[in-house]
Amino acid sequence: MTALLTISGLTVSFGSFTALDGVDLTVHEKELRFLIGPNGAGKTTLIDVVTGRTRPDAGSVVFAGADITGLSEHRVVRAGIGRTFQTAAVFEALTVADNVDLAASFRMPAHRLLRRRDRSSVPEELDRVGLAHLAGRRAGELSHGRRQWLEIAMLLAQKPGLLLLDEPVAGMSAAERERTGELLTAIAEETTVLVVEHDMEFLRRHARAVTVLHEGRVLAEGDPDAVRADERVAEVYLGR
Ligand code: ADP
Repeated sequence: MTALLTISGLTVSFGSFTALDGVDLTVHEKELRFLIGPNGAGKTTLIDVVTGRTRPDAGSVVFAGADITGLSEHRVVRAGIGRTFQTAAVFEALTVADNVDLAASFRMPAHRLLRRRDRSSVPEELDRVGLAHLAGRRAGELSHGRRQWLEIAMLLAQKPGLLLLDEPVAGMSAAERERTGELLTAIAEETTVLVVEHDMEFLRRHARAVTVLHEGRVLAEGDPDAVRADERVAEVYLGR
């Protein structure tokens, strides 16, 4: 297994409050890793540091062999890390296909983008997320679940080496959650994926590797069953 993302000793303070306290986390190539933990555990802060939104007070982030600690968000995207937010950020007035093309342009030089597809064809990323039949629709007309999938397609169009997804199944129906799990498993055959997720049933069904954060530290790590059986996790996270 080759390490793709290596986070070492990551520490972030907001005033006198320590949100991350010496976090070590390694994500290997083509891994589908879940990051869980109670509210305030530091999950978003960790993603914010990796994506260049927040500067750490100490520690480092190494991605694909390069130290990306403290790079701007823009440069992190260029380095190959894509991220979704809890509310899908799609361009509502544009078509589904144009959303994907526009997203691709964030990372691709314009001349390559123009060659990328003739306007009548459907971006392959829409096929992957099962939205090809809606390519000509306005993104604003999509249901919540389909917006999330469109956002994933938009990220895939940027050809990231690492995908960071923030609660991708929040607000989805059971059927949509199941499809999303299958989609993430398929994506992880080619791309490394780190998912922040709360839904325990979703984890049980689709996670192989889980990292539990609590009060800014890694509390446990392993497969979902081992993590659920961990007494400390049961105490702080499952409320037992
Ligand atoms: P999680 O995503 O696991 O719920 P967060 O990373 O959002 O946790 O937050 C961790 C802690 O850091 C929380 O107690 C939160 O209030 C605090 N925090 C996050 N961002 C800021 C900030 N910009 N300023 C002050 N405190 C913050």
